Amino acid sequence: MKILVINAGSSSLKYQLIDMENESVLAKGGCERIGIPGGKLTHKACGGSYVLEQEMPNHTDAISLVLKALTDGVGGQGAVISSMDEIDAVGHRVVASGEAFKKTTLVDDEVMKTMDVIAELAPLHNPAAILGVNACRAVMPGKKMALVFDTSFHATMPDYAYLYAIDYDDYKAYHVRRYGAHGTSHKYVSGEAARYLGKDIGELKMITCHLGNGSSISAVKGGKCIDTSMGFTPLAGVPMGTRSGDIDVAAIDYLCHKKGMTMDEGLNYLNKKCGVLGISGISSDFRDLEAAEAAGNDRARLALDMFAYGCKKYVGAYMAVLGGLDVLVFTAGIGENTPEIREKIVGGLEAFGIVLDSARNSMKNDGTIHEISAADSRVKVLVIPTNEELVIARETAALL
Ligand code: ADP
Repeated sequence: MKILVINAGSSSLKYQLIDMENESVLAKGGCERIGIPGGKLTHKACGGSYVLEQEMPNHTDAISLVLKALTDGVGGQGAVISSMDEIDAVGHRVVASGEAFKKTTLVDDEVMKTMDVIAELAPLHNPAAILGVNACRAVMPGKKMALVFDTSFHATMPDYAYLYAIDYDDYKAYHVRRYGAHGTSHKYVSGEAARYLGKDIGELKMITCHLGNGSSISAVKGGKCIDTSMGFTPLAGVPMGTRSGDIDVAAIDYLCHKKGMTMDEGLNYLNKKCGVLGISGISSDFRDLEAAEAAGNDRARLALDMFAYGCKKYVGAYMAVLGGLDVLVFTAGIGENTPEIREKIVGGLEAFGIVLDSARNSMKNDGTIHEISAADSRVKVLVIPTNEELVIARETAALL
């Protein structure tokens, strides 16, 4: 069985064709500048990387190009299937499900109507996913398609964890609550952690730290998410590349007044101009910040310290809600690649049974799982490369 995974953004789109027989990636790539002059498709397959520069006025054009690359290759190279009949189904990444969908869902007209209704929950992301689904339905009529939601893994949170302390009637009327994000990643790495340790996931208490441009931390008990740091939107939780993370909402009102911003402008500011970028004034990229800190820049140091401190507080809080901890997992760009940040987060938690082995922690990310805790650490600390596309493909295949 071959599954095409589509992750559509408003002007870009990523894809992977996965052979579920052995879960190998047959081809992957992306389209850039959809609807903007200068369209480009990059297709990686058969050990090569091929670029096609071609305008893509809309997502349907982009999907048509992807299918052409998969069946005919780019410039005759990198073809991996002979026709699109070989694609058994398409799995679409969707950021927000609201309360409408608790799990992976097969696409039909009714489902897409509901998707339109909940699009306002994630105005930056869900409308793009809808474009991707509609494009695939236009180009591959009749093909089975699944929606795989970033929020699904968090659907198991208990009510006292997902609710905000607002008027309960308003929660009921407007569905304002914590939904979380990065669920496919948290699901993947928690499953991989149990597999790696040879333990039954049902018996493990885990904290999974997905630390990338956007960062979220989840408490996972027996394989089920019981709390997560992102909220109604991905703005909540730890400080991120450009997002503030948790902030007193009254401070936003005050800032909007002082800076003459509307609420929309205030939210754009909190999403795009804050986080480690805002604190450092240098970059949202942790590689730049580490270089600046090493060169003596104190605001880069401050940004990194604030990030690590924010993460440490969630680790502590989630140890409390889990009633202990067996495994701490780091994943995504920062989690997989920055020993210094892992050290800053975990340092000082020895009293809670978390001890790093500094030699193991300084390992280079080679795409495999690394155990970075000391031999006598009660809590296992693992670095696990995430694979959200594989989860989407597995969920889609399982639904069929
Ligand atoms: P996204 O949320 O966009 O998927 P990523 O998971 O790719 O983000 O994470 C991006 C972050 O990871 C950036 O801050 C970047 O500096 C950091 N990062 C990625 N690769 C490395 C690396 N090899 N060394 C250090 N930091 C890295």
